[in-house]
Amino acid sequence: MEWNISKNAKRCLSCDRGFLENDEFFSALFDKGDAFIRNDFCSDCWDQCDKETVYSFWRSKVSECKEPPKTKININAIFDLFLKLENAGEEDVSKKNLRFVLALYLMRKKMLKLQSSKVVENSEIMTFKVPNEKEDFELHNPNLDAEQIEQITNDVKMLFDNPGLTIEN
Ligand SMILES: [Zn+2]
Repeated sequence: MEWNISKNAKRCLSCDRGFLENDEFFSALFDKGDAFIRNDFCSDCWDQCDKETVYSFWRSKVSECKEPPKTKININAIFDLFLKLENAGEEDVSKKNLRFVLALYLMRKKMLKLQSSKVVENSEIMTFKVPNEKEDFELHNPNLDAEQIEQITNDVKMLFDNPGLTIEN
């Protein structure tokens, strides 16, 4: 899968309005099969936008220029993407791998807990759980090496990283 994530253009895709300090805007992820494409919309255009083709989205705010650029990944956006990826087909290895790396990240952030792990036909199945909730998620461990995990992590950073922007819930 290719990642087709344009650098944040700091303007609305629909009306071409540039985002100013403290403006809120929406970033939407579109699944183009072999690529994820991210587009940003101002709040007004987002309200009118057809959400049917949106895979996942999150809200961001342009931080004030006098503040040092900071990057805060919206954990709920990561979790939402993790949930959406559950529907990825078995043959879509890159989405499965992405989902696994997101699970590791969510585990580090204590949004997911590793409940158990078992080996079935030479494949490790890991069960994750949201603390204090009943629902659990079974994932095959794709046995990624460090380099693969780093590559996917960089893709996720590219997706959510907006230096100079504070990403909120
Ligand atoms: Zn707009």
